[in-house]
Amino acid sequence: MTDSHLPGDSGGGPHHHHIHPYDPDAVGVPGAGRTIADGVIELDTLLGGWERVTAGYLIEGPEPVLVETGSQSSVPVLLAQLDALGLGPEDLAGVVVTHIHLDHAGGVGDVARAFPKATVYVHPKGARHLADPAKLVDSAARVYGPLLDTLYGRLDPTPPERLHVLEDGEAIRVGPNRLLIAVDSPGHAKHHVALHDSLSGVLFAGDAVGVKLPDAGVLRPSTPPPDFDLHQALHSLRRFADRRPTGIALAHYGLLRDPGDVLEEADGTLRRWAEVAEAAFHQGKDIAAALAIEFESDMVGVSDEHREKLDIMNGVHSNAAGMHRWLSTRQVAGDAKD
Ligand SMILES: [Zn+2]
Repeated sequence: MTDSHLPGDSGGGPHHHHIHPYDPDAVGVPGAGRTIADGVIELDTLLGGWERVTAGYLIEGPEPVLVETGSQSSVPVLLAQLDALGLGPEDLAGVVVTHIHLDHAGGVGDVARAFPKATVYVHPKGARHLADPAKLVDSAARVYGPLLDTLYGRLDPTPPERLHVLEDGEAIRVGPNRLLIAVDSPGHAKHHVALHDSLSGVLFAGDAVGVKLPDAGVLRPSTPPPDFDLHQALHSLRRFADRRPTGIALAHYGLLRDPGDVLEEADGTLRRWAEVAEAAFHQGKDIAAALAIEFESDMVGVSDEHREKLDIMNGVHSNAAGMHRWLSTRQVAGDAKD
């Protein structure tokens, strides 16, 4: 395996105008992924150089499909892994992003350029932002601050003719015996879609089930602004359960092999977080502080290093801001009805 021949190099040349916070040669490319289910390869996209925080998945077949690109800063690592798997520039048939947050879709413009035959699949509410990312990058800059450039990178546009808007229930063909079925799953974001693999039975859940980093152990909901909606999120979890997946693959991070238990846990955890947030909201208290106090016990035994990762990916402040926005919006809607 060699790093000197990345699929992107033959196209527009390496993209030195982007800020990549680390060099894949320096951190080392983690092999070529790991098979976690029949024809499913987990790729560690190493956000921030951290292992087991951001995952992409390669679904193998005559028309291979990548689920999640990770952030733009992960692109060199991702392309090196796909190259090591023997995937040439003409070989990738599709790329799906579960939603358009930068830790999932930031690399999509670069990956589309590196694989000129790949169709880019996205939720109907996300498509225009991939074609014209200026507004999305602006709002990400407000949310992430300096981390936008030091950690995530940005998002290059995808030519509109490369985009395929994915409706609920639509199938992406990976081969004659393999389809990825789109499951509209708002709640975490209104532009969220999960993918259910007909061959392995694995459901690629993006962030709709929450975040469970293998090194931190605890499943936490992910309820960021501006879209978080509790009832939609719970409904999406029920839709997942109804499909009886054989496993749940989280973007953060990895395959969980007990889907029934995981979905039940996600439902319960989400309701508890929402209850604590709602009580604080009505008492005029700080939601982030209330969540931190209530769920501190989840973090007992988690090392400082892993706490930091969890804080970046799934911080109490981001969850609290999403809860606050959801509660305020709901109150306004309720007031308007009275
Ligand atoms: Zn995410």
